[in-house]
Amino acid sequence: MNTKRAYFKCIDCLTAFAVENIDSKILIKCACGGRAELMGHVIQDRLVKTELRVPCDDRCTNAQGPSCNCQCGGEHHGTGRLVEVHTSMNGDLVAQVSKAESIERGKMWRALVDAAMKRVEVRFGDALVDYRANRRIPREVYFEIRNTLNSISKIKSMRVYKSRIEAIMRVAC
Ligand SMILES: [Zn+2]
Ligand SMILES: [Zn+2]
Repeated sequence: MNTKRAYFKCIDCLTAFAVENIDSKILIKCACGGRAELMGHVIQDRLVKTELRVPCDDRCTNAQGPSCNCQCGGEHHGTGRLVEVHTSMNGDLVAQVSKAESIERGKMWRALVDAAMKRVEVRFGDALVDYRANRRIPREVYFEIRNTLNSISKIKSMRVYKSRIEAIMRVAC
């Protein structure tokens, strides 16, 4: 059985939450201020044979992702992570993720990214300005800047909070 419940993950605080009856093409934000990416709609995992399905408990209702392998076939999946979505003053759809921890994590992550970018700016100075403006700079500086910016993008795509935090703090140190 497929439900209309969808899983999202905030790209800043990395909280996974579920929303009922949402159009998956709509962009939503997490209460921490981060953008939420769609993980998928709740589906029954077809790889698990019916007789092997586990009983429905908080492994299902609090699962980290949308695939259900328990006996409820998706009916209760993610119900423990359901949040309301409200429209904010500036028209954003904001998922009301209520955990103070998530809000803190989102703020902390963005502050660490800003701090890393500041260190990059200090380290490369005018060369970074020239790099961004596509002006000629010494080859080795060009590659050093490119590698540093690539590594920041890579760290941003990491989806484990602790290792991501550790990695961003090492950038340009
Ligand atoms: Zn968040
Ligand atoms: Zn279940």
